[in-house]
Amino acid sequence: MPKPGRHFLQIPGPTNVPDRILRAIDSPVIDHRGPDFAPLGRDVIEGMKAIFQTSGNVVIYPASGTGACEAALSNPLSPGDRVVIMETGWFSHIAWRKVAEGLGLNVDYVPGTWRRGASPDDLEQRLAADRGQEIKAVVVVHNETSTGVTSRIPALRAVMNRLRHPALLIVDTVSSLASIDFRHDEWEVDVTVTGSQKGLMLPPGLSFNAVSDKALAASRRKQGVSKSTYWDWHDMLKANETGYFPYTPATNLLYGLKEATTMLLEEGLPNVFERHARHGEATRAAVSAWGLDLVCEDPREYSNTTTAVLMPNGHDADRFRQVALDRYDMSLGTGLGKLAGRVFRIGHLGSFNDLMLAGTLSGVEMGLAAAGVPHKEGGVTAALRALAQGVTV
Ligand code: PLP
Repeated sequence: MPKPGRHFLQIPGPTNVPDRILRAIDSPVIDHRGPDFAPLGRDVIEGMKAIFQTSGNVVIYPASGTGACEAALSNPLSPGDRVVIMETGWFSHIAWRKVAEGLGLNVDYVPGTWRRGASPDDLEQRLAADRGQEIKAVVVVHNETSTGVTSRIPALRAVMNRLRHPALLIVDTVSSLASIDFRHDEWEVDVTVTGSQKGLMLPPGLSFNAVSDKALAASRRKQGVSKSTYWDWHDMLKANETGYFPYTPATNLLYGLKEATTMLLEEGLPNVFERHARHGEATRAAVSAWGLDLVCEDPREYSNTTTAVLMPNGHDADRFRQVALDRYDMSLGTGLGKLAGRVFRIGHLGSFNDLMLAGTLSGVEMGLAAAGVPHKEGGVTAALRALAQGVTV
């Protein structure tokens, strides 16, 4: 049976694609080697530099986020190289540890609880013990989408600088870029990875690397070692100099990307971050009023894009999600890995406003009641109050 009204897509990505972007994508395909393509190619690269807060190199792949993770590792590193990966949740495992091991890297997986971000103290211990400076890279997921925990990148960078450790810093911003403040240059990140389908408000299908000169130099030293053609930064950057790509780009997604970066810069990045912060805070106010617990244990690491909520014992999160979908036509995020069935996730990122959040939280509150999940009433009221307090007219 057709469902009236719009579906509520409140998973932490893919996110809702605004009409402006859908219209931009809905255009004739052009010759990607013809004269009309180069201005588009140059515009999207410049736009993404602003979003990454970098004046350096940005590479755009026709691929999902995992592709950009593989590119971030395979360009500067070689099989056998030692890398530290901080365990933060499902994505530090599936997008990083698994990919790194697949590439033959020697992974030092620093254990985490999935309830806190990457620990600067744990990183300090690992790096201080590495007297021969054999560790070639440190990998951190900025916003762990499976747990709603945001790691403090400047604190991790400070540890590396204090120890004068030369490892590259590789950061996954798939669910934080264009939503939570992230500064590739200022925070001295060497490779930043992201995807199109979350803060950038696009459909899935594009992914990105922002690359420091140090990471680029490391990839140059790899000449002679077998390397991937598809992910190669140098081929890409060379072609990009004239606005083109070494192989067929995802032309229509690039039309969308141009519109997305324009929209984000029109709003202004500080305003975009502030909007996400208000929505994160209001969502947490609702969860607290319901008497439910967040997965994230440290208020300094609350995520402003994703709220992961623990179910009361004996209640299945996926059954609740099914009720919310059937009754209210709303998709919420599932629990991943060891959190399957125990957690549901609310996505509040991308093209999103106060009333969309109010609708989302109403759906959660009604869904909890319909599924017989024990909770207190008043979550939506608490969220509306938080939203009203944050508004200055
Ligand atoms: N890293 C994080 C933090 C993610 O949230 C995701 C996907 O949600 C990925 C990596 C993998 O991206 P993709 O599913 O687009 O390959």
